Amino acid sequence: MATTDDESHLTRGNINLKTLSETFQLPYYELKQVETIFPVKITPYYFSLIREKDDPIYRQVVPDIRELDGQGLFLDPLAEDRDAPVKSIVHRYPDRCLFLISHECAAYCRFCTRKRKVGDPKKIGMHLIEEGLRYIEQHREIHDVILSGGDPLMLRDATLESILRRLRKISHVEILRIGSRVPCFLPQRVTPALCAMFKEYHPVYMNVHFNHPDELTGESERALALLADAGIPLGCQTVLLKGVNDDPFVMRSLMQKLVRARVRPYYIYQADLVVGTEHFRTDVRKGLEIVKAIRGWTSGLAVPHFVIDAPGGGGKIPLIPEYVMRITNNEVVMRNFRGRVYRYRQAVEHSVHSEIESREMDLF
Ligand SMILES: *Cc1c(COP(=O)(O)O)cnc(C)c1O
Ligand code: SF4
Repeated sequence: MATTDDESHLTRGNINLKTLSETFQLPYYELKQVETIFPVKITPYYFSLIREKDDPIYRQVVPDIRELDGQGLFLDPLAEDRDAPVKSIVHRYPDRCLFLISHECAAYCRFCTRKRKVGDPKKIGMHLIEEGLRYIEQHREIHDVILSGGDPLMLRDATLESILRRLRKISHVEILRIGSRVPCFLPQRVTPALCAMFKEYHPVYMNVHFNHPDELTGESERALALLADAGIPLGCQTVLLKGVNDDPFVMRSLMQKLVRARVRPYYIYQADLVVGTEHFRTDVRKGLEIVKAIRGWTSGLAVPHFVIDAPGGGGKIPLIPEYVMRITNNEVVMRNFRGRVYRYRQAVEHSVHSEIESREMDLF
């Protein structure tokens, strides 16, 4: 299998604090103070997408002193560390697990849920991978492995391939998924060689991460097209963020651009209760309003699920705008996307259903 070993040039030349301080008139010592707690990294490419201070691209990656007020929030809000049987695995759902294989990302999102871990090779790293592989081998109930981190695409092609090859040897592992923000932050990393390599390990799915329509540049669209052409079904996970995308028109435009790039919007996440990210959080009703503004108004392919990853490790819980107004034995009264009311008559033999229901109830 052809692999390249020269991806390292792509991570050179990242924007440093001095440049940030000079470009946006930010006090250097404040940037430095934030950096001592949470890592800072911005690719020159993503930096070039910033049009002005405080715009949606800027807010996602430029450190903010507000990251240091941490009252009432958690370092590990999803209790991932509790569901980690070994350091590199988060096993919360019956048939699938996260496998954290890279501590690095192309750039660091200021709102990251794993703020406590990313950028720290001691917490996620190569030396922990073997243990993770052994865990997956020993747990026959795992059918779906989600490679995450950090960002798996920050590994060299050869390293990534050695992990995929090992996973493919495990007969109960059916689906491989990769979660990556590289197509957004560093689309140049997605090469024909990388895609050809993935193709050898199908079914490989990828969930990318875009939060704003301005992120879908020609470069990113080229990367997504290469991945899609390699037969990798693409999904997108978007985080709902104040001042970035907490607007129905911005979100709708993002979802439409994703679908055009052959990416199926998968989740919109309510921002997690992560320490240092309070300034990004929105009212939960904003997410519902956004989903309502997309459903029915544009292609159903462009409508993701809005979820809250429940604090304390409850997993993802979908929040669905209310369309059903009333449901009785005789009819359903419901509202359509325009808010008009419609009635649907129930089947006449509803008494049969009640019987089935009561029998099923006994099972629990
Ligand atoms: C999100 C997540 C998954 C995958 O969930 P899906 O709904 O199948 O995409 C698996 N494990 C953990 C711990 C997760 O947080
Ligand atoms: S790319 Fe993902 S893991 Fe990396 S900093 Fe952003 S949200 Fe966190």
